[in-house]
Amino acid sequence: MDPVKFFDADVIVIGTSIASQSVIGQLRNTNLRILVLEGGDYERTDFADSLTFSDERGHYVNHHWGGHWSRVYGGASRIWNGFSAPLEKWDMVGIDGRPKWPISIDELEKWYRLSAPLMGEDPSIANLVKYDTAKLFVDRPYIIMDPPLSYSDPKLLTKLKNVELRVKHNVIKFTADESGAHINGIWYSVDGKVQFAGVKKNTKIVLGAGGLGNAQVLLQPAENRQVPVGNESGLVGKTLMAHPHVPTGEGFVDPKVVAKPTWAQVKYRKWLPAYIVGADYKTKLNLLNASISLTLAAVRELSPNEAAVQEFYEKKWGKKLELHTFYARTEQLPNPDNRIEIVAEKNGAGLHKLKIYCVFGARDMMSIDTTARMLADHLLKNKLGVTTIDNESIFLNTWGWAHPSGITRFGSSPKDSVCDSNARVWAYQNLYINGSSLFPTVGYANPTWGIAALGMRLGDHLKQTFAKNG
Ligand SMILES: Cc1cc2nc3c(=O)[nH]c(=O)nc-3n(C[C@H](O)[C@H](O)[C@H](O)COP(=O)(O)OP(=O)(O)OC[C@H]3O[C@@H](n4cnc5c(N)ncnc54)[C@H](O)[C@@H]3O)c2cc1C
Repeated sequence: MDPVKFFDADVIVIGTSIASQSVIGQLRNTNLRILVLEGGDYERTDFADSLTFSDERGHYVNHHWGGHWSRVYGGASRIWNGFSAPLEKWDMVGIDGRPKWPISIDELEKWYRLSAPLMGEDPSIANLVKYDTAKLFVDRPYIIMDPPLSYSDPKLLTKLKNVELRVKHNVIKFTADESGAHINGIWYSVDGKVQFAGVKKNTKIVLGAGGLGNAQVLLQPAENRQVPVGNESGLVGKTLMAHPHVPTGEGFVDPKVVAKPTWAQVKYRKWLPAYIVGADYKTKLNLLNASISLTLAAVRELSPNEAAVQEFYEKKWGKKLELHTFYARTEQLPNPDNRIEIVAEKNGAGLHKLKIYCVFGARDMMSIDTTARMLADHLLKNKLGVTTIDNESIFLNTWGWAHPSGITRFGSSPKDSVCDSNARVWAYQNLYINGSSLFPTVGYANPTWGIAALGMRLGDHLKQTFAKNG
């Protein structure tokens, strides 16, 4: 029998997008030997593109998930848009039966600050997460990163002395040792040829294959045991969440509504004005977190009715009003019916393909509607704007943005989470998960800043762990 080949490294990082690069960034100036396994090539190929096709059901179809999960060096960072905002305390504390985050907002804020330069912002950004929770509406802008961070240049990794990068290495699944406490091997494929390499007990593995990819690997059937390695909790693949998005209407508003944000004295370089309902009202009214952003409408001829409304309110309030479009980005509740499963068919890399269910629920939709209507009332009462609410758009056209989250969530107990507070899979001493699949709840905002923050935190944790253990 051939001797078993080993991946000889201190840390094996899987994937090369924002989550993985944030971990590696923390480990780059150490003596730790890092092996990076990337399933894609340096540029997109037809073979790699074929790997992300799934059976999609619900509100996201037509290769929506796959189209947001690029199998290439740098992953979806090569095509992301560059909007993000931090979570708030209210998102993380387990309000209304939602799972609670195992870390506090204060700890996360520290990592938001440290990862702010990756988002093109300064770590000195003041007071990212705290605000007057008793306010009805809070101006809470998105950062706009322009141009967006793109990990397209592999030299960033290949010039590091302690990093070895292997592209076209698709990880299929892990094997565990007899004690069931350590990952001791990795099945993977190169150009579709399936291979195996052993992993030493003290090698740490960081899986950053994307919000769907992490769960896909942990759901692959094991050869000699009933439970797939990594899914001892039975929760992998469950409570898939994304962010419902929809235009909610238009309105004539006072330009001061979209002027530089006052909340939290944020100093974003470039931002998109947006409003959320304050935390106390959200709790009282049983709302999910929803944000409504305002963008200056494209110049167009107004209908006679619109022109009359503008003229009437400009005269009544004695000020100029500008036409803006209102757009909701919102929270989706974690619901076990929204999930991924594997099917019998395998993709070209040897992984069982996915069946993905994701359907918006009544509370997801009603929270958009209520927030939009409350904002309209608020603007009118305060002589700040007069707006329409587009019922048909809200209830018939809500779609979303594939930000797959929640399907390997971290928590405080192995009874209700896949990973512990350090993102380590509870059952294994050397397997960590990295990315939005950890998020127990998603808030309303595009997730990448949070992914970078958690990735840096994990990199720091690994650095400390190796330093402690010598
Ligand atoms: C068009 C578009 C616009 C977006 N706009 C925004 C936005 O404005 N704001 C925002 O916050 N987010 C946005 N996103 C989402 C954002 O890009 C993702 O949240 C982010 O890239 C996730 O980073 P990640 O490292 O977790 O995973 P990914 O970027 O998905 O990377 C996964 C990595 O793992 C590799 N991989 C996958 N499976 C395997 C395997 N089995 N073996 C080995 N390697 C594997 C992939 O090749 C890739 O390198 C957008 C995404 C798209 C597609």
